[in-house]
Amino acid sequence: MSHDSSVEQQILATIDKWVEQELRPIARDHDQADEYPTDLVEQMKELGLFGATISEEFGGLGLSASTYARIVSRICEVWMAPSGIFNSHLIMASCVERAGTQAQKEHFLPKFATGELRGGIGLTEPDAGSDLQGIRLVAKKDGDDYILNGTKTWISNGIKGNCLAVLTKTDPNASPRHKGMSLFICEKGEGFSVGKKLKKLGYRSIDSAELIFDDFRVSKDNLVGREEGKGFQQVAGGLELGRINIAARGAGMAKGATNMALHYAMDRKTFGKPIAEHQAIQLKLAEMSTRAAAAELLVHQAADKFDREERCDLEAGQAKFFASEAAVQNSLDAMRVFGGYSYSPEYEIERFYRDAPLLCIGEGTNEIQRMIIAKQMVARAS
Ligand SMILES: Cc1cc2nc3c(=O)[nH]c(=O)nc-3n(C[C@H](O)[C@H](O)[C@H](O)COP(=O)(O)OP(=O)(O)OC[C@H]3O[C@@H](n4cnc5c(N)ncnc54)[C@H](O)[C@@H]3O)c2cc1C
Repeated sequence: MSHDSSVEQQILATIDKWVEQELRPIARDHDQADEYPTDLVEQMKELGLFGATISEEFGGLGLSASTYARIVSRICEVWMAPSGIFNSHLIMASCVERAGTQAQKEHFLPKFATGELRGGIGLTEPDAGSDLQGIRLVAKKDGDDYILNGTKTWISNGIKGNCLAVLTKTDPNASPRHKGMSLFICEKGEGFSVGKKLKKLGYRSIDSAELIFDDFRVSKDNLVGREEGKGFQQVAGGLELGRINIAARGAGMAKGATNMALHYAMDRKTFGKPIAEHQAIQLKLAEMSTRAAAAELLVHQAADKFDREERCDLEAGQAKFFASEAAVQNSLDAMRVFGGYSYSPEYEIERFYRDAPLLCIGEGTNEIQRMIIAKQMVARAS
């Protein structure tokens, strides 16, 4: 799954060019209008982003987690929302590639890689987020099919996507609860509909939806691994990459906010000199850049371990926790540097301030993340 560094440099240069030419110019207007970036999706298909981490044998780019994390960070330095179009899609793909049968890999992964089938992961429900084992969406066996009934909420790509990995209960009475959980790849069809598009503080332009499953019929061929009771572990495996991805977003946003603050501070003058020459602003800039650099290093530590196929829940948790908090803090600090203009949609910083808090919630809240880190600390010390 890894390329040599010259190939990585070429890929990153292509992404940088795309970000500057296509993403930056439309970010503010699309965010303000909450308008879906349809053109970007087509460009992402051409760039291969829907197959970024899918193996080459299944039509993907086969990028390492390290290169992938760099791509995500570079996009999020400018605008976080577009990364959401392919991030949770690739978690779905990772679940199939890690836990699917050979037939499922051959059927789904090439279609995921081109974006012909694209979507994300349906885990959260109105009454269950952190406590995933408390979900209620039921998949009941019916001959060679399963019938799904229940509701998912906050699902990224739920409207524009056509396919989702859906976590269900095949045995609601199982004990322990995770033994009754199964993951299905569901293509949209009769009985699988959008309840509503959800309004959001930030992370606009990207669809977040409530999804309703009403007697939705799915073949047992779409049960990941063709085995019941493994869904929770399958999803947890995909979430390691998901956490590295959120961490990469955080590191990118922390750096983007720092860069914006730096340039503004060099430009804006008070009391006869640029505010970058006032010590109070210098302290902020120094703290922001240090936080951003530390976040980047933690992301790469976790991604390197992931690429070496070593257990990395501690490292991915640390990176996710630190980098997401860094994004929030740096956005807030940049707001201070911008003064009154921070409050204006004419500048980009207010979008960072609205987007960043999501990173503390998604892929396991930072409260849960700290619990994972501490448990691993104890396990490794025992
Ligand atoms: C914009 C957006 C996009 C999203 N995209 C997706 C998606 O694509 N797919 C998907 O499945 N979900 C998605 N989510 C949902 C997200 O994963 C959940 O919101 C998240 O897991 C938290 O669940 P919750 O909101 O139910 O909070 P709760 O689980 O109700 O938690 C509420 C608070 O209690 C804390 N808490 C809970 N349990 C404990 C505990 N044991 N100890 C200490 N503190 C605890 C939490 O940290 C949090 O602070 C998205 C959410 C948003 C806002």
